[in-house]
Amino acid sequence: MKGTQAKNLAETFQFLHISTGDLFRYEIQNGTPLGVEAQSYISRGVLVPDSITIGMLKNKVEAHPEAKGLILDGFPRTIPQAEALDEFLASKDQIITALIALDVDDEEIVKRILERSKTSGRADDADEQIIRNRIAVYNEETAPVFQYYDGKNRSHMVNGIGDIEIINKRLTVLIEDLIEQSS
Ligand code: AMP
Repeated sequence: MKGTQAKNLAETFQFLHISTGDLFRYEIQNGTPLGVEAQSYISRGVLVPDSITIGMLKNKVEAHPEAKGLILDGFPRTIPQAEALDEFLASKDQIITALIALDVDDEEIVKRILERSKTSGRADDADEQIIRNRIAVYNEETAPVFQYYDGKNRSHMVNGIGDIEIINKRLTVLIEDLIEQSS
C-alpha cells in the first residue's frame, strides 16, 4: 500500500525513502530500548508518542545530508509532528512540498491489510480489531494533518483504488507536476 508506493516513488525520483513504521520495526527486531517501547504502542494499533517519533525522524534525516529529496512515509501523523517537521526543515531552508494522501475506503483497507497479514508477519496486520483501531486513530489524529497542509495549499488526495501500477502512475504524474511547478 503506501509503503510499496513510497518505495517505488523514491526509486523513480531518486529521493530518500524514510518510513517511520519501518524504522520502528527495525528497532523492534534488534530489541533496542526504543524498539521495546515502540512495540507496546504498535501492538495496540495506537501511535508511538511524538516525543519518541520526532527525534527518531530527525536523526534519520540528519544522517543523510546528501539526500536530494525526501519521501516521508507515515510521517507526520499528528499536528505536533507536522509543526516540529516544518520547524526542523525551516532551519535547513527547506519545506515540505506536498502531502499526498491515498483515498481508500475503510472496508477496503481492512480487507487489504488482512490479506497482507498472510505474508507481512506483522501482528498489527493480523487482528481486525487492531486494524480498525488504527483507522480510528488515523481519523482522529492524522486526518487533521491533511487539513493543516491543505491550509497551506499543499495537500493532495489521490485515488488509492486500483492495482499497484495504476496508483503508481497517478502518483508519478502528480509529483512530476509538483516538481515542474516548483522549478
Ligand atoms: P506503518 O508502517 O506506517 O503502518 O506504521 C505502523 C505503526 O507504527 C503505526 O500503527 C504506529 O503505531 C507506528 N508509527 C509509524 N509511524 C508513526 C508516526 N509518525 N507517529 C506515531 N506512530 C507511528
